[in-house]
Amino acid sequence: MPELHAVTKQRERSSLALLAEIRDVMSTAEDVQVRLNQLVALIAGRMDSEVCSIYLLQPGRILELFATAGLKQSAIHSTRLAIGQGLVGEIAASAKPLNLADAQNHPKFVYREETGEESFQSFVGVPILSHHQAIGVLVVQSESAKIYSEEQLEVLQTVAMVLSELAVGQHLVDRFALAEDKTETSHSKALGGLKISPGLAKAEAVLHRPEIEITQLVSDDPDAEEKRLVEAIDALREHVDELIETSEMGSEGAHADILETYRMFTYDRGWLNKIMLAIQSGLTAEAAVKKVLEELRVRMEKISNPHIRQRIEDLEDISTRLLYHLSGVDPSSAHSELPDSFVLIARALGPAELLEYGHCRIKGLVLEKGSSASHIAIIAKMMDIPVVAGISGATDIISKGDTVIVDGDHGEVFVRPTDDIDQEINEHLMLRAKQSAAYEAMRDLPPETRDGVRVSLNLNIGIHLDGQQVSANDVDGIGLFRTELPYLTSPIFPDVDSQKRVYKEIYDKAGGKPIIFRTFDVGGDKEVPYIQMPHEENPAMGWRATRIAIDRPLLLKRQFRALLEAAEKKPLRIMFPMIATVGEFDAVKALFDTEMEVLAKQGMPLPQEVRLGVMLEIPSLIFELDAILKRVDFISIGSNDLMQFMFAADRGNEQVASRYDPVRPSILRLLRQITAQCDAAGVELSFCGDMATRPLEAMALLVCGVRHLSLPPASIGPVKAMIRSLDLEQATKYIDSLCETMDRSIRQNLKEFAQDHQVAV
Ligand code: PEP
Ligand code: MG
Repeated sequence: MPELHAVTKQRERSSLALLAEIRDVMSTAEDVQVRLNQLVALIAGRMDSEVCSIYLLQPGRILELFATAGLKQSAIHSTRLAIGQGLVGEIAASAKPLNLADAQNHPKFVYREETGEESFQSFVGVPILSHHQAIGVLVVQSESAKIYSEEQLEVLQTVAMVLSELAVGQHLVDRFALAEDKTETSHSKALGGLKISPGLAKAEAVLHRPEIEITQLVSDDPDAEEKRLVEAIDALREHVDELIETSEMGSEGAHADILETYRMFTYDRGWLNKIMLAIQSGLTAEAAVKKVLEELRVRMEKISNPHIRQRIEDLEDISTRLLYHLSGVDPSSAHSELPDSFVLIARALGPAELLEYGHCRIKGLVLEKGSSASHIAIIAKMMDIPVVAGISGATDIISKGDTVIVDGDHGEVFVRPTDDIDQEINEHLMLRAKQSAAYEAMRDLPPETRDGVRVSLNLNIGIHLDGQQVSANDVDGIGLFRTELPYLTSPIFPDVDSQKRVYKEIYDKAGGKPIIFRTFDVGGDKEVPYIQMPHEENPAMGWRATRIAIDRPLLLKRQFRALLEAAEKKPLRIMFPMIATVGEFDAVKALFDTEMEVLAKQGMPLPQEVRLGVMLEIPSLIFELDAILKRVDFISIGSNDLMQFMFAADRGNEQVASRYDPVRPSILRLLRQITAQCDAAGVELSFCGDMATRPLEAMALLVCGVRHLSLPPASIGPVKAMIRSLDLEQATKYIDSLCETMDRSIRQNLKEFAQDHQVAV
């Protein structure tokens, strides 16, 4: 790696000498305050400056002066600044250095009389970073007006890294004060966070890739450290290659693509150069990797672009893996020692990493980072894993083996729960287990109403397909395979072979039951790295799904090719999302027909039967229903989008998403009209939106004439229980009469009906 040697000798020497002295001070058995006092004196001297001070974060987000050489000693532990207050507070808030020749004229300067700092003109301060935040500030001041050199700044940052380890190791800072800690007893904690994926789970905690404790921070042999780094990088590259070849994540294309991105990062010169620079300034290889990692994490906090964040998260993951290699721990060994069931605690987690654990054993997930629109949320819901995110400090507060309860329905996490909470949760869990057992016992019974109406139940899937779920007797097929989900994080558009592998696997697992493949539905709330999206004021109504497909026909052609090749001679069903007009369907159908012709000309096998359909999720199509029914083989109502457009209420905005109840006569009458039109035209109609997952709403849908429902696996049991306890004729009479007379939500009436007639909703 010759490119990694571009470091000035001057910087090496000054930094190495200072770090060697710092190491000597740190290794003494003196009281920590004495050592801090010695350190500030040492740093001031080495920086040719009159002042050096260390501020550390204390409860209440206050930065307290812990040690100083040059300012009044009486100010120690008495000068305190809020984050954002003064130059020190500004450095902590921005997590960036400040280098000023005339500090007192800086708008953020605040004069603290007790320090006696009025005579100092120049000021350089760097954040002391740990766990993606500033836990303190290291400041050097001088009487003369000067700008400290880049080299001096770099040296200070390296010193700050060493101070960070000292401060955290000696418990001098209070990082956990930032976590939203609702109640606390001596052992137990209740933490509030964001609801990411529903459900309730209790199990022992496993920390995702726990951070390796670095015992040696400073080295006086940079060449030896550099050699260790090069060896660890080689081992890491080999490990990533191995992962690619023997991926536990199955053959799904996106995961391979993610690993390819990882491989690319192991050759990233910018990143490796930064680590080398830190080694040359006197850190051990581990400390250097950690220093660069902390700087990365801080950068990530400030970035809102999801693609860039994703890339930085990948790089963060690679850094952690590199630390494992440097310390001689096999990163994959962590997985083999996992308990049979556990709650995973992570700072952040990529989709690939979640899948790497094998979804059977993860009962719940607690994240420090993440939002309800994140990829991990979509995937966790499909895997039926409750998730709570936004718990800052979770990886510090929760230890391996702690009992953890994840309540995804209420966004709460209980750590080492008290007896009364434990008992309450156990009762809930028992109730849920009883329900699941009851659903399990019904598995071979048909989804048929009490008055003999057979309803078709199908699965909504997109990531994992458990062969057992689809082979169940009460499941007729896959009503919605969201093809975009396996590729949400793919950096490049998935090629034909990669897609073909995914679709073939679905065919294999479906065991002959029908599958509806929905073409890529990206854009809107599903931004993907492989398509450059323009900035949109209103992405839900923007360039998404079939609109992209029509403008970029090559993408759709590739997908058709992959689907046709995967189907071989088996039946093929394809559904197009977000169709607003018949013209759009005609356009995509023409593309499909061309692709079929190409395949036929090449002598490739053709599917036994092809059925093309559309999602009914844009209101305009309802007004072209007659025309579209003449063209398609089936229709599926997507209520998630249809309702957001009907009520002009953004489905991703919690404030408005549930403001309008779809269980109201106007909507039910419309659905009835749609089912009647489809029946008359002999076109199969199904319903695949979230509305069908709730038994009460599903009951109303049956009354409206819907006979095919498509649901995530976890909803099959509850909806079937409703169907088997329902007298549809009785419900129809009642609901029809309500629809004639009422002009508001009839939810309450439906609940009362269900209660009076023992319908399981
Ligand atoms: C819908 O809109 O109801 C639907 C099923 O599709 P998605 O949630 O993927 O937009
Ligand atoms: Mg939709």
